[in-house]
Amino acid sequence: MLTLDLGRRVELVSMDPHCHDISLALYLEGHRYRIHTYSRHEAAANRVAFLRAAMASMGAMQIVNGQLAFSCGGIHLAAVRRLFLTVAKLSTGAELPTPMPLETLDKKAGSMIQAQSLGNGEYRVPTEGPVKNGLRKLAEMEDRGGTLAFPCGASHDALIGLLLPRALNVRATLREEEAAATRGVLVAPSAQKE
Ligand SMILES: [Zn+2]
Repeated sequence: MLTLDLGRRVELVSMDPHCHDISLALYLEGHRYRIHTYSRHEAAANRVAFLRAAMASMGAMQIVNGQLAFSCGGIHLAAVRRLFLTVAKLSTGAELPTPMPLETLDKKAGSMIQAQSLGNGEYRVPTEGPVKNGLRKLAEMEDRGGTLAFPCGASHDALIGLLLPRALNVRATLREEEAAATRGVLVAPSAQKE
């Protein structure tokens, strides 16, 4: 019997409305991600290839042997799960999404919120309001007082752009993730650290 060693499943789209309700899963093996489906539907392979290309484009990830990875060697699990769920909302063949800008409109305040890259994975973000704390949680960054930093020491503008709008509304975003966790998507917390 052929057994696929895919690593551990870290996210799931149980029914993809853009591809005949097939299920799609994101697996993590070492520091590399793989999108996989067990569906034998004829459109499935094309769907997986599109989502992989969309993640690489929007998240500034590299594709190596069909797997997705960051050149820094980091995992950035929370951000990548969010990226996967985001591109899964696109229909196959849509224009590939490019990274989002380092600014977003705070509709309530009527002003733009900006993040500024300082290099080496460090970003200056507004310290007033929920953005800094939200981004720290959603992007798994280190709090350095006036700045936030990725522990890998590399810049990830694409991840900041993806998560900045969500950091404004972090409670709703985290609730969404908890709901996913209770659907049995995630492994036990003790197994989440590599
Ligand atoms: Zn990194």
